[in-house]
Amino acid sequence: MEFIHIQAKASKNIALVAHDHMKPLLTNWCAKHKDKLSQHSLYATGTTGAKISEFTQLEIQPLLSGPLGGDQQIGAKIAEQKLDMLIFFWDPLASMPHDPDVKALLRIAAVWNIPVACNPSSADYLISSPLLSETYDYRVPDYQAYQQSRK
Ligand code: PGA
Repeated sequence: MEFIHIQAKASKNIALVAHDHMKPLLTNWCAKHKDKLSQHSLYATGTTGAKISEFTQLEIQPLLSGPLGGDQQIGAKIAEQKLDMLIFFWDPLASMPHDPDVKALLRIAAVWNIPVACNPSSADYLISSPLLSETYDYRVPDYQAYQQSRK
């Protein structure tokens, strides 16, 4: 695989997702970091987004509920380079009907090299990074070279 560098803008597009038992953790985390989060564009799966905006009044662009395709919508936006960061509090103590979607989302985030936090501590580190409010050059797959190599 060949790679190119692209630049994330200073204002980031951030996806927020939490499984049901993790939703209070994420809404509390969003409230704690409301000032910083409000400087970025926020996306969330359906129920997560509704709870965060009700609890914090943050403006959230809602996607479908996770089990109905919301995780896959986020994955598609990552592959289209429309998201710069994923905060995903998945539940390590429960099995999910949409487990394949969860795995696919984590995989595509790794492919496209975006920062991912899966628990509040990791999310604290990400939100505290100076890179959050700066432009950031990072490596992604070179799709044109990939297509050429398959001819
Ligand atoms: P939800 O989806 O925000 O609609 O609950 C999250 C998930 O379960 O992936």
